[in-house]
Amino acid sequence: MTSTISAIRAREILDSRGKPTLEVEIHLDDHSIGVAAVPSGASTGKHEAIELRDNDAQRFNGSGVLQTISKIDQIIAPTLLGRSPFEQEAIDHHLIELDGTPDKSYLGANGLLGVSLAVAHAAATSRKQQLYQYLRAHHKLVLPVPLFNVLNGGKHAANSADIQEFMVVPSGLQSFSSALQCGAEVYHALKNVLASEGYNTNVGDEGGYAPSLPSDRHALRALTDAIDEAGYQPGKDVFIALDVAASELFVDGRYILPRNNISFTSKDMVEFLSELVDEFPIISIEDGLDQDDWNGWVLLMEKLGGTIQLVGDDLLTTNPSRIRQAIELHAANALLVKPNQIGTLTETLQASNLAHSAGWETIMSHRSGETADTTIADLSVATGAGQIKAGAPARSERVVKYNRLLRIANEQGDAVAYSGMKPYVSYKGRDQNRPWGSGLGDVRTD
Ligand code: PGA
Ligand code: ZN
Repeated sequence: MTSTISAIRAREILDSRGKPTLEVEIHLDDHSIGVAAVPSGASTGKHEAIELRDNDAQRFNGSGVLQTISKIDQIIAPTLLGRSPFEQEAIDHHLIELDGTPDKSYLGANGLLGVSLAVAHAAATSRKQQLYQYLRAHHKLVLPVPLFNVLNGGKHAANSADIQEFMVVPSGLQSFSSALQCGAEVYHALKNVLASEGYNTNVGDEGGYAPSLPSDRHALRALTDAIDEAGYQPGKDVFIALDVAASELFVDGRYILPRNNISFTSKDMVEFLSELVDEFPIISIEDGLDQDDWNGWVLLMEKLGGTIQLVGDDLLTTNPSRIRQAIELHAANALLVKPNQIGTLTETLQASNLAHSAGWETIMSHRSGETADTTIADLSVATGAGQIKAGAPARSERVVKYNRLLRIANEQGDAVAYSGMKPYVSYKGRDQNRPWGSGLGDVRTD
């Protein structure tokens, strides 16, 4: 029996926010089936490939994806039937050509990604391999450090912090399973810290708490206290990562942080972030500046690039040409990899390889709108990402990725290492005797 594509089925399903998205099935002649569901962002970068929505106000407030499905059925499917699923690169290049636009706006990055990933899943199933094994390059298998987003602000939670994500980074632990345990313990300790200070502990889009705190420093202090309370040493076992998502704060050339009562130039913003790095065990900052503030990024790299990880998300949008520009300018030292920002698996792998070849670190990432799909967990291992960002250690659409990594760990046993401190070799740390959060001064509420 041949292993060629015999059917493609696409359907509209709901994501974790109750918004429609796509699920695509690829069937092969040998009865193998590959399924992929497409995630979707809220704080979307300006340079991301276009996610096609129906804009039909009669359905889901215009966010339906029926048009994208009919393009898969009528334009993509007829050209893929009979093809081998093992030619991933050729199929992806064909999809890019069929779309024919620089931003994937004709067929939609969501439609293309659903097909592209489902082809890979079908191929792996046909070979009786796990996806991470099927896609793995020749490097050693490494399980990524999980970056748990335990406190949600910005666009992911109304009336919370200005900074979008406060993440727990258990990179000082010895294994992926102990890192996962640590993430969950800190998450629960944070609930106690917040509740004991009278803040609400409802959760935001990615499962992290969304308290209405007076400032971002308060969020950092609560998180540092929670790490402590859970029995871990901040700055040794466990660190903090931020996603400022600064493009969302950038208005008319200034950074506006309403909860902190701040309006900053990019130079001020760089200063503000270095103060936070000095006061708290911060090991990584994503999108500390706006997506087009290249000069600001260069300044930030000069100031902090030798000390912590500086990650481009909206800045780079998993787009090889923007990554190349950032490498040339020394504007970042790590890439956030989001397959739906670029639209095909092949381009996602290219982006990741390009970053690694420049000596950068990479973080495989989910979106705020997720499904039960676990492809990114396999991709994190297959690409040797070293880090994964999949939200809080709570809510099924988030933990399903972390649990998938547990399964991979289990399957591989001793053959698989934990990435641990490896992505953060340049982290300088700071004087452990100085108390965390000293910059809070009189505004401490406890
Ligand atoms: P998004 O946020 O998925 O809502 O864009 C995630 C991020 O900014 O990293
Ligand atoms: Zn981001």
